[in-house]
Amino acid sequence: MAWTFSDEVTFTPDSETPGFSGMEMNAAPGDRGARFDEDALGGGPFNFSATPGVSQGLSPRRTTIMLKPVGATCNLACDYCYYLPVAQGYEAPAKRMSLDVLESVLAGYLPEAAAEVSIAWQGGEPTLAGLPWFKKMIELVEKHRRPGQTVNHALQTNGTRLNDDWGAFLHQHQFLVGLSLDGLLRDHDHYRKDRQQRGTYQRVLDGRAILQKHKVEHNLLVVLNDRNVTRPREVWRQLMALRTDWIQFIPAVEWVHDPDATGDHAWKTADFSPPGEAYGRFLIHVFDDWFAHHRHRVSVRMFDAVLSILARGYSTECTLGNTCAGQVTLEHDGSVYGCDHFVEPNWGLGQVSPPVSLTCNGQKLDPSEPGDAAPLDTDWMSRLDSPRFETFARRKQEHGAMCRSCDFRRVCNGGCPKHRPVRGSRPAPSALCSGYRMFFAHAMPRLEWLAGYIQRGDIPPAEAPSSIMPRNSRKPRVKTRKKRR
Ligand code: SF4
Ligand code: SF4
Repeated sequence: MAWTFSDEVTFTPDSETPGFSGMEMNAAPGDRGARFDEDALGGGPFNFSATPGVSQGLSPRRTTIMLKPVGATCNLACDYCYYLPVAQGYEAPAKRMSLDVLESVLAGYLPEAAAEVSIAWQGGEPTLAGLPWFKKMIELVEKHRRPGQTVNHALQTNGTRLNDDWGAFLHQHQFLVGLSLDGLLRDHDHYRKDRQQRGTYQRVLDGRAILQKHKVEHNLLVVLNDRNVTRPREVWRQLMALRTDWIQFIPAVEWVHDPDATGDHAWKTADFSPPGEAYGRFLIHVFDDWFAHHRHRVSVRMFDAVLSILARGYSTECTLGNTCAGQVTLEHDGSVYGCDHFVEPNWGLGQVSPPVSLTCNGQKLDPSEPGDAAPLDTDWMSRLDSPRFETFARRKQEHGAMCRSCDFRRVCNGGCPKHRPVRGSRPAPSALCSGYRMFFAHAMPRLEWLAGYIQRGDIPPAEAPSSIMPRNSRKPRVKTRKKRR
């Protein structure tokens, strides 16, 4: 059935005015589903070259979905928000996804999807859809999932709206929550402000306390920018002091016009973006400390992805993988895109039809009456533009000369196309390339050593052989003098 109007909850996103210039930096460049699910990808990464037939690229079996219940609407106004242009692309302010569209999405996806799937809920700030909306969503999932099918939920949030009701709900339905916290208070509050320009650090920690109180599994997402990237020691120490087991670092790379340049080079990365070398130094510091002290307990998403590439041959995060084919993004209005970093008209893949108002002799039918309900759009996925999706997904494989001859391409794959000049429009290396190369050159022997144990199903010993350690960290040889006789 279609939901009647009276089923809709009133959209009252707190006392704060919702707007469109704020967004939750998503996990998902990286967090394409916070739990990696091999089964959802058909037993491994999707590989166009190995699988002829583009239509297979968009089957529910192979694709996971990210939904934006309120589009780019957010109660915060972070300075490095990448979703601002998305919000500006709408003619009208974003509203909440209607329950009819939501039901169509689920009814067209779940019955054919894998036995275990993860759905990622993102924004903007997705909790602005309201708890009643999310409770209806759970009902609809129950209605449309197959018997025995497991549906995991991942929610990316700025954490400032969490309360006990949310905590109990997230616990009950076993959500995995990604919480955005940029390390130190001074860096977090510099960029992550609310719409009254107030810092939000303490409110995020209060939100985390709710998650801890209700035993909600969660990870911390640190958006790396020009400030916190220069303080790896303090940021990492703070994260370890917070006793978190799951961490993601997402570099905030955006492109802006360079007024001092012309032609092809009239672009540069935004002032808030982390410079490549600083990114490399940050990763090196974190890796060294993680390897020495925390690798048995703490998961760092990028390190996990590299280990997966080395041990199993595929990446667990899209940024380092070889295609952008693992997931589609659905906006609040039912429009579908290959990735939420490319929600723009030229990458639109199609549309989940909004509900049709049924009329008879000019009279609107009551959709609550049996037989009068607008039909659900259950075949939206088969209508998506597969050739365009393939073009989108393959762009990641279009490397310039430097990447083609790079020793680290197997673990980097040129990074996210959005980080390449300008948003992947030129076959040039990532803006983070120098950092990637510094990091891989430094860490590869130890990553390969760990990957060997993963491959064999063994647990690596606590002490790594000195031959794989960087020169400056090897134990100095103690010279012993021969005793004089
Ligand atoms: S463009 Fe590709 S690599 Fe970048 S976030 Fe999207 S899917 Fe991932
Ligand atoms: S490290 Fe640089 S050159 Fe090598 S694959 Fe990555 S982006 Fe390309």
